[in-house]
Amino acid sequence: MERIKMVTPLVEMDGDEMTRILWKMIKDELILPFVDLKTDYYDLGLKKRDETNDQITIDSANATKKYGVAVKCATITPNKQRVEEYNLKEMWKSPNGTIRSILDGTVFRAPIIIDTIKPVVKNWKKPITIARHAYGDVYKDTEFRIEKPGKAELLYTSVDGDVQKQTIYDFECAGVVQGLYNKDSSIESFAHSCFKYAIDTKQDLWFSTKDTISKKYDQTFKLKFQEIYDNCYKDQFEKLGITYFYTLIDDAVARVIRSEGGFIWALKNYDGDVMSDMVSTAFGSLAMMTSVLVSPEGVYEYEAAHGTVTRHYYKYLKGEVTSTNPMATIYAWSGALRKRGELDKLNDLINFANKLEEACVKTLLDGNMTKDLINLVDEGVKTNALNSLDFIKEIRKNLESLL
Ligand code: NAP
Ligand code: MG
Repeated sequence: MERIKMVTPLVEMDGDEMTRILWKMIKDELILPFVDLKTDYYDLGLKKRDETNDQITIDSANATKKYGVAVKCATITPNKQRVEEYNLKEMWKSPNGTIRSILDGTVFRAPIIIDTIKPVVKNWKKPITIARHAYGDVYKDTEFRIEKPGKAELLYTSVDGDVQKQTIYDFECAGVVQGLYNKDSSIESFAHSCFKYAIDTKQDLWFSTKDTISKKYDQTFKLKFQEIYDNCYKDQFEKLGITYFYTLIDDAVARVIRSEGGFIWALKNYDGDVMSDMVSTAFGSLAMMTSVLVSPEGVYEYEAAHGTVTRHYYKYLKGEVTSTNPMATIYAWSGALRKRGELDKLNDLINFANKLEEACVKTLLDGNMTKDLINLVDEGVKTNALNSLDFIKEIRKNLESLL
């Protein structure tokens, strides 16, 4: 069979531990035999990041800006223990954080849905994609304890010396205070990424905050979204028959639970953090969560939502065969190849990406799966627990017959 040709390279970001092992298996079994793969390769494995003083991460993000599409393997975010384990020069920052700050993007997370694995919420039929604003608010707060009576004030001094001052609370006892901020530019980028992604995936977009209580802060988010929608995206939404709607977060929670799914739910930083864990748990497994970073200019970086699966990697190092689920990493590849195909108008590549996902779903529906999914499938479905490589080989068989 002739391999599918590519025009523009895909930015390939290799990673760490068990997912790095899966990465190679996926490429060898599911991509390279079928696609004449063109990639601009960056090794974001911790060793290479340390050797290059993390320059490689910055280079990979800049390459993503240049080419428009990247696929990323999970990477270790070093902590103190990792600094010792890898004998690192420094406790390098989270690669995802570095890439996100260069691309200024929003992360969209969606579950892979299979008929035999039912979500906890019975009426959810289609994926719910969470878009979390990943900047500011409580994640960049200033806070302290107050130990005796006294006045806490909010003070702002502009560059030309104008002052705004308000009393937060006149404490008659001990307590706590917290200061938060966000920037118009970041909120606007968030809104653009959300509207672009909704158009791209032809799904409705919901946005919710607590603007009835937070009359300036959350209200700013609400107004920015509405203004950007009206000025930039309304026509495109109407043409596609999709809708944008804003609702109070309490109302949104109730509607989400009663819905069928099949939409994007945009949330502020903290709300997105909490709700994405709730939604992913209700859909089944972290190993089935896909993730894509979309910049306001329309640059895409695909990855799995889970980490490097360290526990399995230590077993692998001892020579044990592991049953680590490669689904979300395979979908990172299919998502990136499909997007590359769309941008370069390569129907064969788009078709390949679709067939690859179809082959994955068929494999699971046949009952062939990794161990993590066995307990999640409906009662009565016959299952066959496979190790990672055998599971990938099953997918390959199905892919070959589909192509
Ligand atoms: P993790 O790698 O997501 O794994 C946590 C646990 O979830 C695993 O031990 C495993 O449970 C289960 N799991 C996750 N993915 C799985 C898969 N594909 N197949 C089967 N089971 C899976 O999280 P972590 O152990 O907290 O973090 C490990 C490293 O990953 C850390 O160094 C962290 O910095 C990094 N990390 C990277 C990213 C990223 O690059 N996007 C995201 C998160 C974490 P069992 O052990 O019960 O089998
Ligand atoms: Mg969380």
